[in-house]
Amino acid sequence: MIRIAIANQKGGVGKTTTAINVSTALAATGWKTLMIDLDPQGNASTGIGVSASERGASSYDVLVDRAPVSECAMQTKIPGLDLLPATVDLSGAEVELVNEDDRAHRLQDALRGDLGYDVCLIDCPPSLGLLTLNALTAADTLLVPLQCEFFALEGLSQLLQTVERVQQRFNPELGIIGIALTMFDRRNRLTDQVAEDVRSCLGKLVFETTIPRNVRLSEAPSHGVPALIYDHACAGSRAYMALARELITRLPEKRKAA
Ligand code: ADP
Ligand code: MG
Repeated sequence: MIRIAIANQKGGVGKTTTAINVSTALAATGWKTLMIDLDPQGNASTGIGVSASERGASSYDVLVDRAPVSECAMQTKIPGLDLLPATVDLSGAEVELVNEDDRAHRLQDALRGDLGYDVCLIDCPPSLGLLTLNALTAADTLLVPLQCEFFALEGLSQLLQTVERVQQRFNPELGIIGIALTMFDRRNRLTDQVAEDVRSCLGKLVFETTIPRNVRLSEAPSHGVPALIYDHACAGSRAYMALARELITRLPEKRKAA
């Protein structure tokens, strides 16, 4: 199983939208996929169609009580896509784990062995706290959604420093699969310029696929379905399918390995 963390400490940059739609695209491609919601706000869980009342066991139970993922993950309406949901009690997890020696390794431990998935995507909260640290420690690789706006690169350097620290202390194998430019608006010269700057600065690390600003992507969550199902032909859905295809070409050949 390939473990992919989707992280950026900035809020509202498209992490959850990317997690939902790339997970859906991978599942549609025939990959047995697990999406892990690691944000106490639970937007990924809601957006995939699992309301708070439908959530039983959650990522909190896995992290804090060491409950097995196999017992806490649930099926979604989307064939081939399971969800480990987040509940509000996850917001207390950082405090509850603070004195535990293995606090940064809880998710890594939980994802060991063959869980029957080809890939798992971890939707991180908008911070570099213990939850994101667990995701980066557990992950093989990191996908960074980057909103095309003026301060995008500043936030990115802080994230890349964190990645380096995690590589040194917790997870030397952690890679960066790519940076996905999100909410791109070609009519806006500033986002155009930012996209160009990011590409010249970071080169091939940036996915060729750019996710456009598209209202269908923001409407879909309120209907409890991924945009890819809400309107599979809209520009946002097509972009996420292209991103998933590009992601697959970048992944190592360890899809089936434990
Ligand atoms: P994050 O998880 O990083 O906080 P979200 O994926 O929740 O970001 O996105 C923040 C908001 O922007 C949400 O309301 C979402 O529906 C909307 N959104 C995300 N990506 C796009 C896009 N490409 N076009 C239009 N709206 C988007
Ligand atoms: Mg989010």
